Amino acid sequence: MKRIFLFVVALFSLNFLSAQTAKDSVQLRNFYDLSLLDGQSYEWLDALSNEIGPRLSGSIGAAKAVQWAKEELEAIGLDKVWLQPVMVPKWERGAPEEAFVEGVDTKIDVPVCALGGSIATSASGITAEVIEVQGLDDLAKYGEDQIKGKIVFYNRPMQADLIQTFNAYGGCVDQRYSGAKEASKYGAVGVIVRSMNLRMDDLPHTGAMSYGDLPNDQRIPAAAISTNGAALLSKMLKKDAKTQFYLKMNCKNYEEDVPSFNVIGEITGSEKPNEFMVVGGHLDSWDLGDGSHDDGAGVVQSMEVLRLMKAANYKPKHSIRVVLFMNEENGLRGGTEYAKVAKEEGEKHVFALESDAGGFTPRGFSFDADAANFAQVQSWIPLFKPYLIHYFELGGSGADVGPLKEEGTVLAGLRPDSQRYFDHHHASNDTFDAVNKRELELGAATMTSLVYLFDTYGVKPDIPNHKTLKK
Ligand SMILES: [Zn+2]
Repeated sequence: MKRIFLFVVALFSLNFLSAQTAKDSVQLRNFYDLSLLDGQSYEWLDALSNEIGPRLSGSIGAAKAVQWAKEELEAIGLDKVWLQPVMVPKWERGAPEEAFVEGVDTKIDVPVCALGGSIATSASGITAEVIEVQGLDDLAKYGEDQIKGKIVFYNRPMQADLIQTFNAYGGCVDQRYSGAKEASKYGAVGVIVRSMNLRMDDLPHTGAMSYGDLPNDQRIPAAAISTNGAALLSKMLKKDAKTQFYLKMNCKNYEEDVPSFNVIGEITGSEKPNEFMVVGGHLDSWDLGDGSHDDGAGVVQSMEVLRLMKAANYKPKHSIRVVLFMNEENGLRGGTEYAKVAKEEGEKHVFALESDAGGFTPRGFSFDADAANFAQVQSWIPLFKPYLIHYFELGGSGADVGPLKEEGTVLAGLRPDSQRYFDHHHASNDTFDAVNKRELELGAATMTSLVYLFDTYGVKPDIPNHKTLKK
């Protein structure tokens, strides 16, 4: 009898499980249909990229993007939409940079751009000999003897045999971020950094750099050079070590931070309104292109998650927020402020998903989660199979949602195909035409599906010290 009872219970739960799975697969299908047949993400990206354009923190473009996003979120009828104040640094490129390489009887212009945060050169520019290095470690090897008075040229390329291009980026970006600060200690007068780009072309790629706590009078100008420019300079240096480099930059750091905002929209939860799930990307961008991949795509996909839920008439149990973060590129002030306010308000954030890896074909997600939650994610893999979503790995999530991490919080990052991302990243060709409509829409539906599953099944509360924060 007992056996039969157990058998019936098992059969019943199997039926229940398969019914639930069937319900989930219908719901996912619905999200993908709505995104692909009647989506709004691409139209939004068109407006953000082509009507507003570049959105560097503190710029007019960034301010326009804040207003635009607020109005668009209001138009889709969320329960709440608001602006969260955040102070941001302000840096401007100024007039276009100039650079050339000068040998005994040659003078060749090369494409450069100032790195974000760099000081300008003097009004007449700088001319100096160049020392080529393969990374920060080489500085000590050459020492002040060989570096003083020269421009340090960091030329370690992104490692082409790494399939995960973000790892190749991670292996090089210290040259860009800390190159000037470190070279200055050896008496360098400027630095040129090979662009973080896996292909050979003529586009310089900007990005954040920092002087750390280096005193003002020791700060030196820092520029990126295109990959072709780097190859040319390297070749000329091999022929003639006395080759000179001319660099003129007109950028400016403002001393005072300026006011800006994170843009936030919410669908209030029907069962757990005080537990929050966040989906987001960053609204600011670099100034050279229009930031369509970085991170216009993540912005419109995150907005689309909430719109798709409404279009599907799905009423989430948890409060679902879209957060469009300000200042990811050169300060992370938006992500830091959002987490700080959440903590002050005692808001319990259980899940956060970021899209900030380009608008390319989605492959899956990486997760910052404990074993129980990751096991739950793995049980959902079959639901994603029809959409060719297969990548579910533990790893990082995203810079802006990172500060929300607490015990028991699950963080995730959308992982699109990354092979062409660094062709565009932080360069003048990060533009609307580089984003494919279908790929963008697939990403939005994939994100919506994951948020739906976490909302339906919840985040596993198996952490002993899981804190219940109270207002
Ligand atoms: Zn980004």
